[in-house]
Amino acid sequence: MSTDLPMPRVGPAADKAPNAVRIVLNWGRRYSLWVFNFGLACCAIEFIAASMGRHDFIRMGVIPFAPGPRQSDLMVVSGTVTDKMAPAIRRLYDQMPEPKYVISFGACSNSGGPYWDSYSVLKGVDQIIPVDVYVPGCPPRPEALLHGIITLQDQIKNESAGQVRARRASITAGAATRPSVKPPGEGG
Ligand code: SF4
Repeated sequence: MSTDLPMPRVGPAADKAPNAVRIVLNWGRRYSLWVFNFGLACCAIEFIAASMGRHDFIRMGVIPFAPGPRQSDLMVVSGTVTDKMAPAIRRLYDQMPEPKYVISFGACSNSGGPYWDSYSVLKGVDQIIPVDVYVPGCPPRPEALLHGIITLQDQIKNESAGQVRARRASITAGAATRPSVKPPGEGG
């Protein structure tokens, strides 16, 4: 599955940047994550709760409700991913500029959840886009999303430009992080 949209990339000069520059860039990235909530079912309500005053993920540098995928750094997929919705998720992911990150929030997005054996539900969003952090639960509590965000920020802290490119190369080539599960009746 792919789109014909141009793919923004990390510039080759980024590899040659001194370590101090990398540290500053990663510090800026991890504390200014414009988030694009791909809310598909009940888990999306927990995402909204995490963005409100009680849990307040803005204090962690996560800016809720980016105008669209082209202004986003982080996609949070929360809810049941159906086969019909999958192409839209991939298309919007492709529109996000690099470097970009994905949190899979909840059992449905991680693996299909309670609908894992449904003929129309994807067995995990990582079959179509690369996932950086998985948050378990049905639904996970807002605190679990906060923990997922901190885990992602720790990953970004140590990231190099080469790692970003290598990670994206597989998905650009059409490879998913896990093999697709065939629908019942197709064998395999
Ligand atoms: S994981 Fe549970 S709470 Fe979340 S979308 Fe699926 S069924 Fe709903």
